[in-house]
Amino acid sequence: MNDFTPQITDWYRQNKRDLPWRNTRDPYLIWISEVILQQTRVDQGIGYYYRFSERFPTITHFAQADLQEILNLWQGLGYYSRARNMHVTAQLILNTCNGVFPNNYTSLIQLKGIGPYTAAAIASFSFKEPVAVVDGNVYRVLSRFFDIDEPIDKSSSRKLFTEIAQSLIDQNQPDLFNQAIMEFGALLCTPKKPKCLECPINESCASLRNGTVLERPVKSKRTKSKSRYLHYAIFNSNGQTLIQQRKSKDIWQQLWEFPLIETDDKVVLSAEQWEMNEFTYCSDEIIHILSHQRLHVRFYVFHKFPTKTLENWNVISWDDFHLYPQPRLIDRFINEQFVL
Ligand code: SF4
Repeated sequence: MNDFTPQITDWYRQNKRDLPWRNTRDPYLIWISEVILQQTRVDQGIGYYYRFSERFPTITHFAQADLQEILNLWQGLGYYSRARNMHVTAQLILNTCNGVFPNNYTSLIQLKGIGPYTAAAIASFSFKEPVAVVDGNVYRVLSRFFDIDEPIDKSSSRKLFTEIAQSLIDQNQPDLFNQAIMEFGALLCTPKKPKCLECPINESCASLRNGTVLERPVKSKRTKSKSRYLHYAIFNSNGQTLIQQRKSKDIWQQLWEFPLIETDDKVVLSAEQWEMNEFTYCSDEIIHILSHQRLHVRFYVFHKFPTKTLENWNVISWDDFHLYPQPRLIDRFINEQFVL
């Protein structure tokens, strides 16, 4: 046994950031914070956390909320299936467990949308169960400290790293240890410029000794990202526009968008392809990166409605536009580039 665990936890006590979700043991609030943090950086996540915890202070409030409202608050975090899964799980906990959150890892991991990381985080932070969390920070810290050259994206790696983290966890203060190792990775043993000189465990760090710090963690494959070409028509007439809800199992399910034409290649559409005489504006191509997709997007603005309005399209007032949860890309375009 090395000095890893006490040194990491001592370092954490002295250097931790004061973050709102660290002042609660409520499993529901910890769950909310962990899911938000899987989607965004800590500084952005704080605002989302306050908005969610103020609007839905308990799991009952969250479970009984309208999904649209949840998606609206979620806007900008991406990966909307996470928010939908949370809503389903909250309803299940309300209806089958009277709103009482499961209090152990084995039960938590059964819930829709709660994976090994989130289950370990809730179990340890809320209930002090000694189960180790393994996230990107933990992979990086352990692969460097032990100089492990096993690719972290191999399916067997999670088991290996979980076993190592589990062997190091402080049985009496698992919550502290889990917070500590993640904070250590976030603030000190960072991806690009780790602060090895001021690191309290640098004398025992194998990758520092072997000169492999920046080669750890090892990744074996890169997922190829797929390009898609999206063209949105903003029909603008008498203070109103047309939108539709995305229903198919694809990106942005259940969010709202403008009339869309998707093409296989990079092209600029003509007004005729929208069955219109002319458009008043066509944006430059906007590149929007999702985890496995690269979206090439253009917006076309028309100052009247098409003669044939399809039945799935909803006519809404621009004043109500913000009430419909939209992909961040659309929200940004409307707020930053579009003038009515
Ligand atoms: S010495 Fe450097 S690489 Fe090793 S654990 Fe510390 S910060 Fe990370």
